[in-house]
Amino acid sequence: IHRYLEYCTYMLRLTDIQLPLDHPEPALKAAILHALGINEQELVSFTIFRRGYDARKKSAIILTYTIDVETTNNEKVLARNAGKPRIGLTPDTSYRFVTHTEQAPEQRPVVIGFGPCGLFAGLILAQMGFRPIILERGKAVRERTKDTWGLWRKRELEPESNVQFGEGGAGTFSDGKLYSQIKDPKHYGRKVLTEFVKAGAPEEIMYVSKPHIGTFRLVKMIEEMRTNIEALGGEIRFQQKVTDIDIQDGQVRGLHVNDGEYIKADHVVLAIGHSARDTFNMVHQRGVYVEAKPFSIGFRIEHPQSIIDQARFGPNAGNEILGAADYKLVHHAKNGRSVYSFCMCPGGTVVAAASEPGRVVTNGMSQYSRNERNANSAIVVGITPEDYPEHPLAGIDLQRKLEELAYEMGGKNYNAPGQLVGDFLAKRASTELGDVIPSYKPGITLCDLAAALPAFAVEAMREAIPAFDKQIKGFAMKDAILTGVETRTSSPIRIKRHDDTLQSLNTKGLYPAGEGAGYAGGILSAAVDGIKIAEAVALDIQQAIKN
Ligand code: FAD
Repeated sequence: IHRYLEYCTYMLRLTDIQLPLDHPEPALKAAILHALGINEQELVSFTIFRRGYDARKKSAIILTYTIDVETTNNEKVLARNAGKPRIGLTPDTSYRFVTHTEQAPEQRPVVIGFGPCGLFAGLILAQMGFRPIILERGKAVRERTKDTWGLWRKRELEPESNVQFGEGGAGTFSDGKLYSQIKDPKHYGRKVLTEFVKAGAPEEIMYVSKPHIGTFRLVKMIEEMRTNIEALGGEIRFQQKVTDIDIQDGQVRGLHVNDGEYIKADHVVLAIGHSARDTFNMVHQRGVYVEAKPFSIGFRIEHPQSIIDQARFGPNAGNEILGAADYKLVHHAKNGRSVYSFCMCPGGTVVAAASEPGRVVTNGMSQYSRNERNANSAIVVGITPEDYPEHPLAGIDLQRKLEELAYEMGGKNYNAPGQLVGDFLAKRASTELGDVIPSYKPGITLCDLAAALPAFAVEAMREAIPAFDKQIKGFAMKDAILTGVETRTSSPIRIKRHDDTLQSLNTKGLYPAGEGAGYAGGILSAAVDGIKIAEAVALDIQQAIKN
């Protein structure tokens, strides 16, 4: 408490400072002095905590700042401004470890998967002194990059090393969007961003309202974080697929790796992502409680980025502070289905994201600069377990069926099936491209995409795209490109856990975590879940030692 009070009196938080997009730099300082009613001598320093924008009026876009300020006498300044809702104490958002050990337990905690969730579970456990072992089925990120590009350039899919599997997890080749709508009362998200910055992410991710990193930087950062975990006594083993789990009397006791080596473990974090279908099956076979959960299916849509910039920012399109524009769209269709945009990648490319041979899946990525010609996003339709046979893993069967169909429609060579939006809406197959050049590699095969998804999804999308055009002028342009299929928007299952212990509903010592277990959706929320899980594991180990 003492430290907290010390911290609070150290900084004042000033919210909702509004300035025009093109304001000169000194205007911010002037606005701070004005808002606090202080003179320049009283201002010691200030930092931007958050910078967002309000683009509702395109010709007069406003930047909105939240600022942390140190003055020569914070208490006095605060008293002078008592009752003003925009001025208060800066809350303490620093991360504090729930425990620490000088002597790591003999039986080390094991983390399965080295995506954002496993990475943060491993990092926090290592920082607390627990020397975790991390098992990752894929390869280290540099080798993995070569394999991933193998599919994009040479049509060669490596089932254990691809966009989904390998060091860094599913978001490594992505837009690296780092925002989430999860509730985060303990500010774990800030810990994640702080660690990312330490590992080489641009500092602006700490304050811009919609931070992103882009692919190349992510690769370097992940290597840096791996080194950090190893330096703290953690161990990361690549090409180590967990193929079986030893459960005795409802308690996990160990793991088999690559159908051989046995590793004893009483604490296992299951952070396997949403594409580890073989592992989902194995876990289910071993009796771990698994249930079906809703997910979404659809297509990727590509427009020229300039159309999106123009629609969102009007005369301010291209402004450096605003960057490439994004969008978020939802439409409730007459047939009761919701259609929404997902994983929007401004200035990016559509990527081949399959992890199983003979299947095609799309997703999107970008570089930090977001300066590719096209904008892309998934346009997806929600489906629920009522849409398919009643079995916990039935959603996976549906995903596989749709991915196989897309493979066939693409020509069985990893091309994605594609169609122009105009043709999709007019219900005719596409035969030639228009002005928008699709970015998907290795290539697309033009066809009638309506055959790629269930009729209800196609019907809902045909209604949604013109509706979206009312919000983003040009969204329904005839030359925009659709490619299919998007099936991996989130996990089709939930590996349910107790709210308090975070252990599996029926298997002690097993901690289902991150996106694959249905407890996260995106890089940031998966990383935050990893922190929560690391804390639960550490406290349980400490408790077991005490007993
Ligand atoms: P994952 O990242 O999927 O990691 C799971 C890891 O477990 C994998 O590395 C896998 O190889 C490993 N594994 C699985 N089974 C086993 C096993 N049996 N033994 C050992 N290891 C195993 N999210 C965003 O927030 N922003 C974005 O911009 C964004 N863009 C994306 C772009 C693409 C192309 C993709 C595919 C995803 C994107 N996502 C994005 C989603 C994001 O990547 C995921 O939400 C996130 O990675 C989930 O983290 P996770 O750690 O739970 O799982």
